[in-house]
Amino acid sequence: MEKIRQTREIPVIAEYDVVVCGGGPSGFIAAIAAARGGARTALIERYGFLGGMATASLVAPISVFNYNQRRIIDGIPWEFIERLIDIEGAREEKPSGNITFSPEKYKLIAQRMVLEAGVSLYFHSYITGCKKSENNLTHVILENKNGTEAIAAKYFIDCTGDADLSYQAGVPMQPKSSELQPASLIFMLGGVDTDSLPKIRHNEHKVNYHDLDIRQAFEDLDIDLPQYGGPWYCGILANDLVLVNMTRTYADMANNREATNAECVLREDVFTFVDLLKKNIPAFENAHLVMTAPQTGTRETRRIKGVHTLTGEEYIEARNFDDAISRGCHPVDIHSSSSNNQLCEFLEDAAFVPYRCLIAPGFPNLLVGGRAFSADGISSASVRVQASAMGLGQAAGVAAALCAQYGTNVSEVDIKKLRNTLIKYGANLTN
Ligand SMILES: Cc1cc2nc3c(=O)[nH]c(=O)nc-3n(C[C@H](O)[C@H](O)[C@H](O)COP(=O)(O)OP(=O)(O)OC[C@H]3O[C@@H](n4cnc5c(N)ncnc54)[C@H](O)[C@@H]3O)c2cc1C
Repeated sequence: MEKIRQTREIPVIAEYDVVVCGGGPSGFIAAIAAARGGARTALIERYGFLGGMATASLVAPISVFNYNQRRIIDGIPWEFIERLIDIEGAREEKPSGNITFSPEKYKLIAQRMVLEAGVSLYFHSYITGCKKSENNLTHVILENKNGTEAIAAKYFIDCTGDADLSYQAGVPMQPKSSELQPASLIFMLGGVDTDSLPKIRHNEHKVNYHDLDIRQAFEDLDIDLPQYGGPWYCGILANDLVLVNMTRTYADMANNREATNAECVLREDVFTFVDLLKKNIPAFENAHLVMTAPQTGTRETRRIKGVHTLTGEEYIEARNFDDAISRGCHPVDIHSSSSNNQLCEFLEDAAFVPYRCLIAPGFPNLLVGGRAFSADGISSASVRVQASAMGLGQAAGVAAALCAQYGTNVSEVDIKKLRNTLIKYGANLTN
């Protein structure tokens, strides 16, 4: 491939204690946690709003805060949900602790909480690289309408979902799984008879809320259909509006060409499925397509190879760790990229995530929050959901603030202090 060399001077526009890259569920919580811990914090996000998959890809519901009647993910993530509930932007489905929410109110409350915490927000800024001095990251490079800019920081938290910053910094990645989970373009329908959709609420534990009646109806049609999953649907607290999650295709969404192709293929598929639903499923007879998500949803791309890789075995048996900093209680939820199937394994107990999964050997000032943490394909297939991603963000933010306060490397953080601070914030790290 032909290569060109371009050298240019990049203005360093600001300097912080902590820079959080990516404003999805893990990132905006990490930024709030870091700022509340006393760190001068910036949050960089490529879109003009927060929420990541929750808002840019219309992924609903937020799964899952509770296990066996206990709140497992708590602290700032739950404070966010309470703030949403206060403005009628969310409903808790009990006892599971699934959250149905309004994507617009999600954006608003996330932004309010970030700004109230004193975080500097950089929207419409795409992170394209970083500068290092030996192993330390010194600057993150972003592109926006101002041109190319650099921001300096003492500590960085990668919450891009795709481990973009870590990848740019040269952190080794987990071996690429032979079959990444599929990408899905979620769409919103209006005019749906929601009363006749029994699977619209996700309140119970150990239930897969896919609509088997629709699957059967589609199979009975005996025609060639694009690949699909579920379908799963979720309300957004508005009468006849429903988010439908059913399209799927294999794509490495961290590869620009594959992501482009996925967007095009799935947009065609949305129109095919809307037509089929209207013609064959009475609840959708009067439905119309309101919108597709701005971005095709990404379940799985890169994950870092951290100090520890959380295995499915450790996770499913709910092994506890001295450095446990967050939890997970969603089933191991693996969608097939090559068929319409899903493997869904319910947990025996709420599981633990150790701090060592958020840091990489030889990278003294980098933490990772959210789905790019260090895990195998099994444990990550549970932790990737939004409540546990928020839990990882909270832990990464608190850890970064402590490091900034004491001037330590991320691998030298005082684990007792970290856990105690998280517990003080409300995190449940014990039962
Ligand atoms: C189809 C589908 C269905 C799902 N179903 C559920 C469900 O029912 N319940 C549930 O809880 N979870 C579900 N999930 C999983 C969940 O949505 C994600 O795993 C979760 O959002 C991960 O959070 P995150 O913060 O790690 O990453 P993300 O949500 O991906 O957020 C990453 C953020 O970083 C930003 N970003 C990325 N790269 C850059 C860059 N280079 N520069 C600047 N900004 C950048 C993005 O714009 C985004 O805001 C589903 C996911 C998909 C795709």
